[in-house]
Amino acid sequence: MKRREINKVWTVRAQQDSPIHKVGMVLEPGHFEEYDPFLFLAEDWFERGVFDFHPHRGMETVTYIIEGILEHSDNKGGAGRLNPGDTQWMTAGRGIVHKEEPAVGETVHSLQLWLNLPAEKKLTVTRYQDLQSAKMPLRQEPGAQVRVFSGSSAGVKAETLNHVPVTMVEITLEPGATISQDLPGGYNGFIYVLEGRGVLGSKETEGKKNQVLWTNPSGDGEDSEITITAKEPLKVVLFAGQPLHEPVVAYGPFVMNTEQEIIQAYADYRSGKFN
Ligand code: MN
Repeated sequence: MKRREINKVWTVRAQQDSPIHKVGMVLEPGHFEEYDPFLFLAEDWFERGVFDFHPHRGMETVTYIIEGILEHSDNKGGAGRLNPGDTQWMTAGRGIVHKEEPAVGETVHSLQLWLNLPAEKKLTVTRYQDLQSAKMPLRQEPGAQVRVFSGSSAGVKAETLNHVPVTMVEITLEPGATISQDLPGGYNGFIYVLEGRGVLGSKETEGKKNQVLWTNPSGDGEDSEITITAKEPLKVVLFAGQPLHEPVVAYGPFVMNTEQEIIQAYADYRSGKFN
């Protein structure tokens, strides 16, 4: 098992976008080749009215709730409610129009990842997977808990359906505890620190709250692992996925492979084909 190192570290600085929305970019948009298959990841704090009805096509959103209760509903009658610790895995596919709103009186603090879809799945059937924290498989080791939302951790496997192979785990460690997360060697990956401080990877790179620790693929076709040791009570989320190596043309809420497909997406949306 090849031990991965951390190749890059950065700190997320949140800014007030409007009186009812604060946002920090965990993964900035525009680095599509570097972050492949991830498009971007935003950390948001928001009240009702920020994410009213809007469309998506050609991608998936993965929304992890840190605080607050989030209600979502769409133009096809789909609806759900997410509590802290829950994750929504939404496949926009051919097209969805939805809203994401805090429950009345709530402010939601969340992470939303935009995950690319391969060319042949851009127009796939829209679906939701609302992944409740308490129902997810849990790997337990001394001083460590790994909640598996997608992919697996040391053989503990989530049933979540993936179009793109992605590992998503939430790791909670007591001070001094160590855990290793196994990853296919071809995956790009990153850890976002929600709470505490620790050291990560074969070079024991330091990471603390609001920092992102990026790990490059270690080599296609081999097994790898990333080791995390807590110096203080530590909570992180880890995402890793198989790069698609396809052209990305992103415009607003649509993520396709060509300009022509973006034009088509707008035409389809305007003519009501997302309904
Ligand atoms: Mn949305």
